[in-house]
Amino acid sequence: MVWSQPSVAEIDAIVLNSKRLAIVGASNDPSRASHQVTQYLINQNCFEIHPINPKEETILGLKCFSSLQELSGKVDVVIVFRRSDAIPELLTEVLALNPQVLWLQLGIRHDESAQLANDSGISVVQDRCFKIEHARAKRGSEKSFRPINLAQSEPFRWHGVDEFVYKAEDGMATFKDVTRRKLFIESAESGIELRYFEIGPGGHTTLEKHDHMHLVIPIRGRGSCLVENRLFELSINDMIHVPSWAWHQFRAAEDESLGFLCLVKVDRDRPTLPSEEDLERLRQDPQVAEFIRHR
Ligand code: MN
Repeated sequence: MVWSQPSVAEIDAIVLNSKRLAIVGASNDPSRASHQVTQYLINQNCFEIHPINPKEETILGLKCFSSLQELSGKVDVVIVFRRSDAIPELLTEVLALNPQVLWLQLGIRHDESAQLANDSGISVVQDRCFKIEHARAKRGSEKSFRPINLAQSEPFRWHGVDEFVYKAEDGMATFKDVTRRKLFIESAESGIELRYFEIGPGGHTTLEKHDHMHLVIPIRGRGSCLVENRLFELSINDMIHVPSWAWHQFRAAEDESLGFLCLVKVDRDRPTLPSEEDLERLRQDPQVAEFIRHR
């Protein structure tokens, strides 16, 4: 295997989950990136930081070590501010310390050393700024929920996933007996969100339309749906495409609930509800008129 940059998800995990950092080439000069990055990481209050620089006693109030060899214990990430041609010499110390990750800052790259570190079981990120990646990942994580393996706690329920119950405001419900679970939300890389909806027997979702589309896959029970002016009986593992601006409504069977996965964009517009004219137009088809539940 040749060295390759870890994926965005792997980089996110490194910057968000690491605790103990060694910063090789940390500096007291405020004009240097190594100073600014160290200051940023201190400000996060979630890292244990060890500056490494033989010319300094302290950096930003932290005890400074002259080399990686002086550090003991487990280090998660060694962040490096050195010229690319200085990396092979540093590598010996890195391999001896055996951190989880060797991180070479923006503009620093030495593929041969990266490969040797990889071969010793050390992940290597090259030519990336830890501060930039941390800030990006932190922003993303505030909106993100993306388990690698989301295990069920019981059928159609998942560990760590909260149920959201739709509640009527002022008795003006356009839906009946609907719950939602967000299984995956991720804006930066994919922009997708996967939800699981469950409609109780005799219940229904809101009749609505919007610019964003849905892909819907029933995985539990029975029901039916309206998409624009067409009605469908739903079976498990069917897939329904609800196109942009198509009216849609999902209904569970009278005697059985309906559960379905629904894929949407994270950044999407709010639904539009039908006006009286819209309802009149939709109800021109007797079957559609019979199907629709609205207020
Ligand atoms: Mn919708």
